[in-house]
Amino acid sequence: MCDLLQLTRFQFTSLLSFNIDYIVDWALTWFTLKLEPSHDAFFTFEHASRHRTFKFKLFLDELPTLEKLKRARLDLYLDELTCRSCIDRMEDLMHLFMCKKCHLHMQQILQSYQNHLISKIQEAGKLADIDPTPFITKLTSLSCWSFSSTNWSSYALVRGCLPKLFVDLLVHPKKFCVEGYRCCSQQFYSKIQKTNLESTFL
Ligand SMILES: [Zn+2]
Repeated sequence: MCDLLQLTRFQFTSLLSFNIDYIVDWALTWFTLKLEPSHDAFFTFEHASRHRTFKFKLFLDELPTLEKLKRARLDLYLDELTCRSCIDRMEDLMHLFMCKKCHLHMQQILQSYQNHLISKIQEAGKLADIDPTPFITKLTSLSCWSFSSTNWSSYALVRGCLPKLFVDLLVHPKKFCVEGYRCCSQQFYSKIQKTNLESTFL
């Protein structure tokens, strides 16, 4: 993991040091990246496999954005090409979430991820007879719940670099644990996949 963090694609993590509420827990990040998505009759093994690949490509900034394609295939892509949706900005990974044509939708996906986590934590609180309010307050006060060009914590969250607070999520309340997180995370990344990213990248 230390070697990975030396790569340019992870330089954004150094900017997170200005953000005291969002400290990446790399052990947790690695653990959740390796979590196998669950599959059933509707979300098949093939879906789960594509889902896992998508998550890793997102983490490694390996999705073939236009900026990446320009660098890889100088013979095919003109340097002047801009995002196909807004025809205004360069299409790098951050732009996929910031593009004015999909920003609102991406923000809704992020909000529904937060809502899903809260509902699972409340369920777990009831089962364990624990008041989940203090934890939910900490969760919602994290800076990662809105996309902006200067908010590196939301970028870190979608890349899969999870904050230390999420360690508590997987440990307390007891009944939430890994299954609760897997369910929320799977739905979150599936929604991102189902946007225009899916037709472009898979
Ligand atoms: Zn755009």
